[in-house]
Amino acid sequence: MAERIPRQKMPEQSPDARRKNFDEVPLGYPDETAVLEASRCIQCKKPGCVDGCPVQIDIPAFIKAIHERDFLKSIEIVKRTNSLPAVCGRVCPQETQCEERCVLAKKFEPVAIGKLERFVSDFERERQQLPPQSCAPSNGKKVAIVGSGPAGLTAAGDLAKMGYGVTIFEALHNPGGVLVYGIPEFRLPKAIVSYEIEALKKLGVEIIVNRVVGMGETVDSLFDSGYSAVFIGTGAGLPMFLEIPGENLQGVYSANEYLTRSNLMKAYLFPQYDTPIIRGERVAVFGGGNVAMDSARTALRLGAREVYLVYRRSMQEMPARAEEIHHAEEEGIIFHLLTNPVRFHGDEKGKLKSVECLKMELGAPDDSGRRRPIPVKGSEFKIDIDVAIIAIGNAPNPIIQKTTTGLDTNKWGNISVTDGTLKTSKRGVFAGGDIVTGAATVIEAMGAGRKAAMEIDEFIRTGAW
Ligand SMILES: Cc1cc2nc3c(=O)[nH]c(=O)nc-3n(C[C@H](O)[C@H](O)[C@H](O)COP(=O)(O)OP(=O)(O)OC[C@H]3O[C@@H](n4cnc5c(N)ncnc54)[C@H](O)[C@@H]3O)c2cc1C
Ligand code: SF4
Repeated sequence: MAERIPRQKMPEQSPDARRKNFDEVPLGYPDETAVLEASRCIQCKKPGCVDGCPVQIDIPAFIKAIHERDFLKSIEIVKRTNSLPAVCGRVCPQETQCEERCVLAKKFEPVAIGKLERFVSDFERERQQLPPQSCAPSNGKKVAIVGSGPAGLTAAGDLAKMGYGVTIFEALHNPGGVLVYGIPEFRLPKAIVSYEIEALKKLGVEIIVNRVVGMGETVDSLFDSGYSAVFIGTGAGLPMFLEIPGENLQGVYSANEYLTRSNLMKAYLFPQYDTPIIRGERVAVFGGGNVAMDSARTALRLGAREVYLVYRRSMQEMPARAEEIHHAEEEGIIFHLLTNPVRFHGDEKGKLKSVECLKMELGAPDDSGRRRPIPVKGSEFKIDIDVAIIAIGNAPNPIIQKTTTGLDTNKWGNISVTDGTLKTSKRGVFAGGDIVTGAATVIEAMGAGRKAAMEIDEFIRTGAW
């Protein structure tokens, strides 16, 4: 009976070993384990899992192919709708998407859809590659994409396959967006992102790095250079701060800067790379999302003796993926829940020494539906720290909005689009991913990139706006 087979665990590095290295934590399924896990799927006629997938992968079909040991067919099925499966198999929050809707989840544990997706994409990359995807003949039209995160990469791949000449403009020196500068190596090895980007280049996509649109060329000037449409996928990369005294002391980082130094600038590979980063003894990370978990686990690997995760609500409200919280706990991150920082203290040289916090209790739900944290009077206490990392959210980078005529934004600075079409207020300009929704997920950004490609194609072919 398929449902009696327990969900198969993926082997992992032990917590003790992995706290000291940046290698990937889960090690992947061996073939036999993947086939056994695939045998748990009961091949539903109306599969809830597919409805839960933002890019509608034919999940029962790809799992069936694994069960039949036709791994190449399986990855071919996944790639029909997902151009970054090795990434999604590692970082998607499956527990709130496909796996939450799996029929087995009602009585047993859901099929490990994400782990199986990772298995077949790794099979293809490491053992037997699919032939390169084919593109329609060139139609002579050019599309510009601003930003090379999952939204921009997906739009670029889909448009290239339709026969468009696609150029991506990327501000940083490496393409990939958050996949390269935010998510650490131990969750998403950068070689995997590079592999996916190389596949795009083989489709003819041109990627220009170190190019900030809005300084020099602008969205308007791209049209003068012969592009028929522009897609903006610039993400939410502007860090938010706590706005409390002492935030400018030495040793206080935004998560964005801390992770960029470690991941993109390779501070973790010292002395091969000499990017400076303060390797604190006692580090406090403020926030409860994936960014906070990544920062805490990075600090640990950079040599911190103790790492505290300070979050103002309880474990139940934490937005980070369940797997990341579990891994952080296993690695020994110390959680200070229902705790809010009120002030940083420094020494006479301006170096961070401690943080003063207040205990919180939960009141009625706020606009987000989560219970509002309320300070407990007289509960102040201090934690001695030498590094603080603020991971309480990101806002959109404003440069494109400021330098593009006629581009409407909402009150938070996100680019406004017409529902369902990703058309902005400016003719020929489309936008999607975090720059529209605010900080969200990789797969949602990819879904937006895919939708935008279809809309751009229709716009260029028909001229209808
Ligand atoms: C640390 C961290 C961990 C995360 N973990 C997860 C996770 O586990 N699972 C998950 O699903 N999601 C996770 N997310 C969220 C996810 O990564 C984002 O939702 C997703 O990357 C958004 O994609 P995007 O293409 O919209 O933007 P981004 O990935 O932000 O890419 C935007 C790109 O545009 C470039 N750019 C910006 N302005 C310009 C300009 N003017 N000119 C040229 N280029 C420009 C930027 O340099 C960047 O490369 C995480 C985010 C962070 C920060
Ligand atoms: S819902 Fe679960 S059991 Fe049904 S097809 Fe999807 S993965 Fe298989």
